[in-house]
Amino acid sequence: MIQIIKGDITKVAADVIVNAANTSLLGGGGVDGAIHRSGGPEILEACRKIVAKQGGCKTGEAVITTAGKLPARYVIHTVGPVWNGGLKGEAERLHACYINSLELAAQHHCRSVAFPNISTGIYGYPKKEAATIAVTAVQQFLATNRGIKEVIFVCFDEENETLVKTALEAKR
Ligand code: ADP
Repeated sequence: MIQIIKGDITKVAADVIVNAANTSLLGGGGVDGAIHRSGGPEILEACRKIVAKQGGCKTGEAVITTAGKLPARYVIHTVGPVWNGGLKGEAERLHACYINSLELAAQHHCRSVAFPNISTGIYGYPKKEAATIAVTAVQQFLATNRGIKEVIFVCFDEENETLVKTALEAKR
């Protein structure tokens, strides 16, 4: 049910891929930049509509759009916490990113969901702690939800791949 791969999430043909966005929803660097570059302007257009309606996306929350030209059906944009020493609610918010993204995916009848390692790039979350939170949140969700059959952690670097594998093995 949980898979770990190393690669580029824009190439993954899951029902939905998750984007590590920022609160503006209007694009950024890292995985966000890659998703908008490969998916084309349709995704940004859909984000702009959401911004006009609700004014962006809060940290820990998630919104869904088309995936444009990507092989996935949808993109879920979630906003991870910026690491700020660990006592500013970062862990709860990162956990919420995974849970809220999975809930939104389930509401849209998605069976497979691919996640990047949210917050571990520009936002500076320690990768080991982030991997444990990611695995814990996903397992917690899958324990009670029957709609989602497959969750894929798409790790961009070997360090994250190893850390997520270790976190998953520790829980098995
Ligand atoms: P954040 O601002 O949440 O830290 P980043 O995009 O900077 O978001 O990084 C989140 C993670 O996504 C990092 O581990 C980064 O290496 C990874 N990443 C960057 N590009 C891609 C991609 N094309 N596919 C999958 N993961 C990616």
